Amino acid sequence: MTTVARSVAQLEDTIVAVATPSGRGALAVIRLSGPDAFAIAAKHLDPQPSQMRVPQLCSVYDGEVLDQALVTFFPGPNSFTGDDTVEISTHGGYLVPSSVIAALISSGARQALPGEFTRRAVLNGKLDILQAEAIGDLIDARSQTMQRTALGQLDGGLSRRLLSLRDNLIDLEALIVYDIDFPEEDDGPVSRERVEKAATDIVESLKALLATAPAGELIREGAIVVIAGRPNVGKSSLFNALLGRSRAIVTEIPGTTRDALEAVIDSGKWPLRLVDTAGLRETDDRIERLGIEVSERYLADAHVILACAESPDQLAETIDAIARDTSAQIIAVRTKADLVANREQSPDSRPNIAVSAESGLGLQDLIERIDEALSEKHGEIAPELPILTKARHRHALTLACSEIEQFLRAWREENLPATIASIHLRTAVSSLEELIGTVEVEDVFDRVFSSFCVGK
Ligand code: GDP
Repeated sequence: MTTVARSVAQLEDTIVAVATPSGRGALAVIRLSGPDAFAIAAKHLDPQPSQMRVPQLCSVYDGEVLDQALVTFFPGPNSFTGDDTVEISTHGGYLVPSSVIAALISSGARQALPGEFTRRAVLNGKLDILQAEAIGDLIDARSQTMQRTALGQLDGGLSRRLLSLRDNLIDLEALIVYDIDFPEEDDGPVSRERVEKAATDIVESLKALLATAPAGELIREGAIVVIAGRPNVGKSSLFNALLGRSRAIVTEIPGTTRDALEAVIDSGKWPLRLVDTAGLRETDDRIERLGIEVSERYLADAHVILACAESPDQLAETIDAIARDTSAQIIAVRTKADLVANREQSPDSRPNIAVSAESGLGLQDLIERIDEALSEKHGEIAPELPILTKARHRHALTLACSEIEQFLRAWREENLPATIASIHLRTAVSSLEELIGTVEVEDVFDRVFSSFCVGK
């Protein structure tokens, strides 16, 4: 089936799913959307909702009553998906939502695939694919910076910027067509410099956007900050003290729940994923050198490593042991600074930050120092600018950029007919359109939506 035919067939189905997480809870929201949504719902509701967009208390039944629920009808095209949509807020838990879903399926609805509601919203022109991605990012956001970035993208910030660059490219193509149509005029109606300037401007704008990618990917994923040091230097205490000062969310890391604790600290500029791997004593996955405790894997993945020790000498040793296995920035942290012995030590051989998990001394400075280290390496975050947060964005813009640069080379050297050179511009336009989702490219859609949850 062609792309278009498949999309139409998909849009003819009425799909249903629970939009809230499964499990015990006060409410579950069921979404039903598609051409037959109202008719299918009507078979199972009593009374029928009398007004559009106004929630109404109804019995949901399938032979017998399944629940009392609040039901709202949203007529297309002014619904999230753009199709007629019914939202049913049932009681939560395991049985009620699934029995209501089963009833709706028995009357002709189909269980929705992951991300299928949002996909429909895109196919119906309610959102572009960048905005759809932003919904996924918003759901996955674990920091306020990511939440803000995703909301900006959902609001169309990045899409508008890219659409305007695409328009500039199409204008440039038009200039060249004009030039081709009037070949007999020596300098043509369009000067070569004008074309060159327009192409160069677009390349510069694309490069400015591309320059936000390292920061964007770090905002999205969070910077991995690993605590390393000898046993008993106070690593776990520092982890807990840093968490205690911030609104941290402690999570278990998939696959390493036994060994490593991770917490997202959101109080600085960058979302920090603080990792304590001290519990790795029992496993093989740690660096044994000089008895430094840190996971090998995290040493490789880290953006910043907090090398912890109680004395300057021990600190120098710790840093030396770590430095050869990582490209991360290393911050020297002298722990237990509240202890008299630590305070009275001789002048330090290297600059470090003195902290105390006990008294809280130096903790805020440490967070600021981590932020600075990240900004030095990954650039500053400019909240008012659209940011590229995904490899998909970066690849599309890199391709567009390189195509326009190839065009520019051919144009300057005049070694290709303009018709051939401008094929590069067409490829650049297609790359931007694929990125924004103004044209449906099925595998791009599949990739974007496969990471969504069902019901979204
Ligand atoms: P780890 O093995 O490196 O994770 O070290 P811990 O965090 O378990 O700490 C080892 C010992 O040092 C514990 O008895 C802590 O109470 C103590 N300790 C940790 N941080 C401080 C601190 O800032 N000040 C003082 N006085 N004691 C600390």
